[in-house]
Amino acid sequence: MRKTTHWIGGKPYNGVAERTGDIYDPATGRVAGQVDFASAAVVDEAVAAAQAAFARWRTASLAQRTSVLFAFRHLLHARRSDLAEILTAEHGKVLSDAAGEIQRGLENVEFACGIPQLLKGGFSENASTNVDVYSLRQPLGVVGVITPFNFPAMVPLWFVPNAIACGNTVVLKPSEKDPSASSFLAELFAEAGLPEGVLNVVHGDREAVDRILEHPTIKAVSFVGSTPIARYVYETGTRHGKRVQALGGAKNHMVVLPDANLDLAADAAVSAGFGSAGERCMAVSVVVAVDPVGDELVDKIRERIAALHVGDGRRPGCEMGPLVTGAHRDRVTSYLDAGRDAGAKLVVDGRHHPIDGEQTGFWLGPTLFDHVETDMSVYTDEIFGPVLCVVRVPSYDAAVELVNANPWGNGTAIFTNDGGAARRYQNEIEVGMIGVNVPIPVPMSYYSFGGWKESLFGGAHAYGPEGVNFFVRSKVVTSRWLDPSHGGVNLGFPQAT
Ligand code: NAD
Repeated sequence: MRKTTHWIGGKPYNGVAERTGDIYDPATGRVAGQVDFASAAVVDEAVAAAQAAFARWRTASLAQRTSVLFAFRHLLHARRSDLAEILTAEHGKVLSDAAGEIQRGLENVEFACGIPQLLKGGFSENASTNVDVYSLRQPLGVVGVITPFNFPAMVPLWFVPNAIACGNTVVLKPSEKDPSASSFLAELFAEAGLPEGVLNVVHGDREAVDRILEHPTIKAVSFVGSTPIARYVYETGTRHGKRVQALGGAKNHMVVLPDANLDLAADAAVSAGFGSAGERCMAVSVVVAVDPVGDELVDKIRERIAALHVGDGRRPGCEMGPLVTGAHRDRVTSYLDAGRDAGAKLVVDGRHHPIDGEQTGFWLGPTLFDHVETDMSVYTDEIFGPVLCVVRVPSYDAAVELVNANPWGNGTAIFTNDGGAARRYQNEIEVGMIGVNVPIPVPMSYYSFGGWKESLFGGAHAYGPEGVNFFVRSKVVTSRWLDPSHGGVNLGFPQAT
């Protein structure tokens, strides 16, 4: 039985938890471990450790900080299969998908290794006669990072490497559903030479989150999760004077134009709809079939679904695992009846898909609805499971109108061979991340990740250049070294001369 506890001040926390939670193995449905839940007092201890570490870490040279990040990158790469096993054991995603998640996380570590370049300010010599102007980019202090269950390694790695590379210290609160990956990362950071207190991990639920949002020492909060909680975190954190970036939920549309290669589009819809059992914020959940492709596209998707190997992610060949908890599986399953009762055509019912695993696991096979209308709950709600909806529209313009009317704006994709249509789409669509014949357009680590509308509160996108900007604040220095030509007293507003 795994026991996961906090990581505070460079070591596992040895206090006794007032509350704990169960960690499930989703492929068996059995309790596989326990996680301590932090009280407000435990969060305070973590913040105190982070604050104590800040004074020295902010003055650590860029060379020192990057040497820790390089060492961490090396260790994480060497231990990636151990971490993948943890992800599969607690989240349920298949091992190959877990490896992919870790790879995308590693890319963010590699990006942060370039921090000396990224923190360069500007310098203007002789902005006025004998006056130089230059900018500094300084850390904020202690920052909070709150992450969701669906990427237990990658999402912490979106924020933690950049935050510490910029000279901040961190209190990380991962999802209580699959918490052990964050503790594993903290141990690797310690092994890499990160000074104690620079990264602290507290586990738990709302009590820990609320303390992070209210704590006067915490200067900024990065959050990823569902839209209602993202809004709550943004409003509460900013009310307490913090800088907040809060990434929320999604309903991602994949538009298929009549000239598209339908085999490519069907492969993409199945990969992006059912990879990680649909538990990705960039999963495709709606295929928008522009007339007349609907019938042929639905047939091709159905054929591909039938061939999917669903089962325990540790078993060879499995492509899709279980859902994260029994409660989540039941919630997702409830949409199958809701969609059919509302009049959508249930083309593939995931309840009948063969499972390569213990029957007690949190299973639901891939499900396909056709003829979905925009007022049905299968369309209006973020289901966050292996349920793909096809909406049919008569034209390109109707497709754009549909996507732009949706309250979320995380990701979208267009499948077409018409470069002009793709270019128009990227211009007209109100969504933050766009794929052209690419179904899951997650930006590389040297761009930034973020949606529009209800998918992001606070404006600042995650990681990449915007991620670095989020973790620093700038100063501009105007300097003149003693010079006899300083010009004497002048009460006018400074102007360049
Ligand atoms: P969630 O909102 O339930 O939880 C996210 C975090 O908030 C967790 O750490 C959780 O402990 C905490 N939390 C949950 N309820 C809370 C409450 N009432 N008060 C305070 N804190 C609370 O999200 P989840 O189910 O873990 O993750 C799935 C969601 O995350 C989906 O909506 C998905 O679209 C979204 N997501 C978005 C992105 C993105 O980049 N936009 C990326 C990944 C996941």
